[in-house]
Amino acid sequence: MIALEPRSPVSPTIDLDAPGLRHGHLRLPWSRNESAWGNLMIPVTVAVGAPGPTVLVTGGNHGDEYEGPLAILDFALGLDPERLTGRVILLPFFNYPAVKAGARVSPVDGVNLNRCFPGAPDGSITRQIADFVLRALVPKADLVLDFHSGGRTLDFLPFAASHALPDAALDARCAAAAEAFAAPHTVKMLEIDPAGLFDTAVEALGVTFVTTELGGGGGTTAARVAIARRGLRNVLIHGGVLAGEPEPAPSRRLGMPSLDCYAFAQSGGMLEPLVDLGATVRKGETVARVWPLDRTGVAPEIVPAGLDGLLAARHFPGLVQPGDAVAVVAVPED
Ligand SMILES: [Zn+2]
Repeated sequence: MIALEPRSPVSPTIDLDAPGLRHGHLRLPWSRNESAWGNLMIPVTVAVGAPGPTVLVTGGNHGDEYEGPLAILDFALGLDPERLTGRVILLPFFNYPAVKAGARVSPVDGVNLNRCFPGAPDGSITRQIADFVLRALVPKADLVLDFHSGGRTLDFLPFAASHALPDAALDARCAAAAEAFAAPHTVKMLEIDPAGLFDTAVEALGVTFVTTELGGGGGTTAARVAIARRGLRNVLIHGGVLAGEPEPAPSRRLGMPSLDCYAFAQSGGMLEPLVDLGATVRKGETVARVWPLDRTGVAPEIVPAGLDGLLAARHFPGLVQPGDAVAVVAVPED
C-alpha cells in the first residue's frame, strides 16, 4: 500500500521500489453487475537497477492510440534491470477500460482521462486512475513520457512535443527531452484545451514532460511503431536510466504560434481533403472542403488555412460534424 492522504483506492500488486524487474497490476476496486467484489487490473511493469533517476512511461491514455502501447509492450518484454541506472515504470494501458474498448474515453464512466486531471480518489474510475498516477507515480519520476496519436478521428505527422512553459528551466528540459525522442518532427505545442491534461498536471509539479502525436486513424503502421520504439529508447537514454547510444534521426522543428493553427468545420458533411499531411500551405489556402449531404447543386464549405506552414494534422474519418477540427497547420522553424 502506498501511503497517500487522502487515501487512494488504487493499490499496486508489485513493489515499485526494490531492485529487479516486476510485471504486475494497479488494482482498483470495481464493484459491478458482473463482479460484486471485482477489481480493475491495470498492467504495470517496474524495473529498478542501480541508483539513479526514474522515468515514467505511459501509453493508452486514450484507448484508440496504438504506437505507444506497442512500443512499451515490446520494451517491457526485453527489459533487463541490470542495464538500468535508476528505474522505469511502464504503464502501457493508462486508461485500461478505454484501451480494451478501442475507444478514446472510458466506457465505464464516459470520462476522457486526459481531460480529468488532477482526478479524485473518490471520483469515478477514470478520475481514480488519474489521481493515483498523479499523486503516487509522478512524484517518483524525473521525467514522464506520455504517448499519444490521433486516435480514430485525427491523423498526425509523427512528432514528439513539449509545451511553452513559463518556467524557463523546465521549458528547456522538456524541449530537450522532446528533441531526444528524434521523431520526424519536434513540435512546441500549443494546446487548444489545456485544462485537465496529464501534461499540464505533470508540468505543474516541475517534472520534465514529453508527449507525442505519432499517427492516428484508429490503427498504426510499421513505420510509426518503429518511430515510437526508437523514441522510447532515446528518451530513456536521455533521461539517464538506460545505457547505450541514442539512435539519431532527422527531425524538423515546428512551432504553433497561435490558435490560428487550428481550422474547424462550421457545417457537417463529407470531408474532401485538398492537401495531405506534410504539404506546405499558405494562409487562406483551402485545405479542405465539406460537402453537404442533403442535396446536390450546393457549394461546399471552404476550410482555409489560418497561417503559412505545413499540414500537421487532419480530421480522419470521411464525415465531419460542425465544430470538428479539420486541419492543424504548424510552422517550420528552420
Ligand atoms: Zn491522445
